[in-house]
Amino acid sequence: MSDTTSSGAPLTACPACLGTELTEILQQESIPAHSCLLMSDRQEAIDFPTGNMVLTACRACGFVFNAAFDLALNQYSESYEETQAFSAHFVEFEEALAKRWIDAYDINNKTVLEIGCGKGTFLATMCRLGSNRGIGIDPAVAPDRLAPEENAQIEWLAELYADHHSAIDADVIVCRHTLEHISPVKEFLDTIRATLGDRHDVPVLFELPDFARVAEELAFWDIYYEHCSYFTIGSLARLFRRCGFDIMALDTVYDGQYLLIEAKPAPVPTEASFAEEDDLAATLELVDSFNARFMADLERRTDVLQGLVDSGKSVSIWGAGSKGVAFVTTLDAADQVTSACDINPYKAGKYLAGSGVSVVGPEDLQEIKPDVVIPMNPVYTEEIAAKLKELGLESELLDVGL
Ligand SMILES: [Zn+2]
Repeated sequence: MSDTTSSGAPLTACPACLGTELTEILQQESIPAHSCLLMSDRQEAIDFPTGNMVLTACRACGFVFNAAFDLALNQYSESYEETQAFSAHFVEFEEALAKRWIDAYDINNKTVLEIGCGKGTFLATMCRLGSNRGIGIDPAVAPDRLAPEENAQIEWLAELYADHHSAIDADVIVCRHTLEHISPVKEFLDTIRATLGDRHDVPVLFELPDFARVAEELAFWDIYYEHCSYFTIGSLARLFRRCGFDIMALDTVYDGQYLLIEAKPAPVPTEASFAEEDDLAATLELVDSFNARFMADLERRTDVLQGLVDSGKSVSIWGAGSKGVAFVTTLDAADQVTSACDINPYKAGKYLAGSGVSVVGPEDLQEIKPDVVIPMNPVYTEEIAAKLKELGLESELLDVGL
């Protein structure tokens, strides 16, 4: 995949359909260029490189993207700490998804290629449950995180997916939580499609965030620099069909947060066949009202947070990943949020990019005794409540939407 946006010049055409009728939704200046890279030094975290967000929608296909995205600011490496695999709830979800795909496409004793495999926990699960062999491509691979027997089934390529990977003979292609980090989305899908040629039996299975939910709930903590591409179920399906795939299934999972698309290569571009694909008018409606709704709500949310601090309450967020970074920087809340708790032991002792808020482990909260804890992802609220109880803490849990 070639690098088409590293010049930093704003995009003037839709990266999904090349349309030029674009609507700007939201501008955010100087936001942290990365949010999963944690800093060991507070000042370094505060001085972290920034980029601009010019969230833009294409009126022809409904795709939403950061028109000011500059790939040169990307620095994925092993120190990129994106995994959610320390959460039992997330592990359960990954297991169920792996099983669903293995059963639906008979992925047993096969070679599974995962593009953007992160630390490889999902790929290892696919290998374990289906006696498969895995090939994982990601600059952030960390094979030492997996058990030796898991590692033995997987070949790791610590690099970004590119044209030369077309030589890999895989029976299945999996790509989870990766497409939203890629700016030239059509070029990326075209590359995958080209590598498959006339192998029309290879399932191509993607998972990524649903922008319709973000726009409906004004979930600003899900809008951050690393995510340069935002899809609704319809815009995602349109891109796949345009790039020469037929769609087997479309779904929304994880409490409506994630989209699943299950496709196979087709000889020619295909036509819409699922009712959910017909969402362009609804998407444009959400997009056109977004800015006014967002600004009004941001003011309300800022007031709620300040009100807590004014009444003498200490506030911790739970989740020191991208959502936490976006939450603190968008609300400009470095002074209101005392700490960011995270169950990933690799994160404790570090600092959030942009704000310099300290990252702590759950046990550290026994000393901090926050009055209010805000889970960055509501799906973990039950898990967090149980942990707080176990630690003997009576912190009030507040929804991220405040
Ligand atoms: Zn478009």
